[in-house]
Amino acid sequence: MGSSTPAPATPRAALEAHLAELEGASNGFAFASGLAAEDALLRTVAPGEHVLMPNDAYGGTVRLALQVHAPAGTRIDTVDLSDLDAVAAAWRPETRMVWVETPTNPLLAIVDIAAVCELAHARGAVVVVDNTFATPALQQPLALGADAVVHSTTKYLGGHSDVVGGFVASSHERLAERVGFLHNAAGAVPGPFDCYLVHRGARTLALRMERHSASAAAVAALLVDHPAVAEVRWPGLPTHPGHDVAARQMSGFGGMVSFRLAAGEQAALDVCARTRVFTLAESLGAVESLIEHPGRMTHSSVAGTTNEVPADLVRLSVGIEDPADLLDDLTQALTP
Ligand code: PLP
Repeated sequence: MGSSTPAPATPRAALEAHLAELEGASNGFAFASGLAAEDALLRTVAPGEHVLMPNDAYGGTVRLALQVHAPAGTRIDTVDLSDLDAVAAAWRPETRMVWVETPTNPLLAIVDIAAVCELAHARGAVVVVDNTFATPALQQPLALGADAVVHSTTKYLGGHSDVVGGFVASSHERLAERVGFLHNAAGAVPGPFDCYLVHRGARTLALRMERHSASAAAVAALLVDHPAVAEVRWPGLPTHPGHDVAARQMSGFGGMVSFRLAAGEQAALDVCARTRVFTLAESLGAVESLIEHPGRMTHSSVAGTTNEVPADLVRLSVGIEDPADLLDDLTQALTP
């Protein structure tokens, strides 16, 4: 065989190059799941060093930090990252990493990425941003100063509920080098077909995120005016406490909407049971709309911790179906 023809890129190399470019990173690593990608990043912190985690984040992330990495010697505290005074107060001499998730899962709180980076960098720590909810189509954490971005590509990047995957993007030389080492040494890598599926999904990402955001705006407007709903959380609402920061750091507000039922937990469970177009399921970020009860489903592992979520909360992943069907479905589900 002649050696002058370059070898074709493997599906994983092609995916890594594409997603790194979308995040504006010089390095990208595809993992077998979002949690595997997170695990590699958390392993870059040595035993005895300290990580500040959000007090509102995906339950599995908190479980990984508190039940896997803390017993192995990493010191971890959770803090409200939208409160910079609280972040400064929680700081320790050995703090090496701040873990940001914005918008957060499931409460859709917004963290000011640039402000957290300024504070962390001045004290010598790196900042990781979980960009799963916003995606690079709506938010560019590295351009805002973050040192690494992590994704569950299972969600919007894959976009079709048919693959599990994760991704780390970074231009930080030392961090990227260490993640690259762990990627190879621990081997939590995706197979070629999973890489192909994520890569195919990423091609329609920008288009899908536009539709998710537009339909979520219509859903949020319906919920805000509904008497059964006590509170709506969607960063596009001007009443959302993080709206101004979101408007500054995001180019759209995304497709995730959470709301609380005035009548409490049973009412939340009843709404989840009554929808027909929104399917009851834990995942998010795909073309079809999903509904779930975080307290009993995605966030049941953080019950009793500072990350516990309200029992009357419902989380929607607004899909790309006809928005009129979504609004009709929610209206009938909210009307016993
Ligand atoms: N990050 C966020 C924000 C998530 O919502 C999830 C999963 O729900 C993960 C990370 C973990 O990803 P995976 O399920 O691909 O391991």
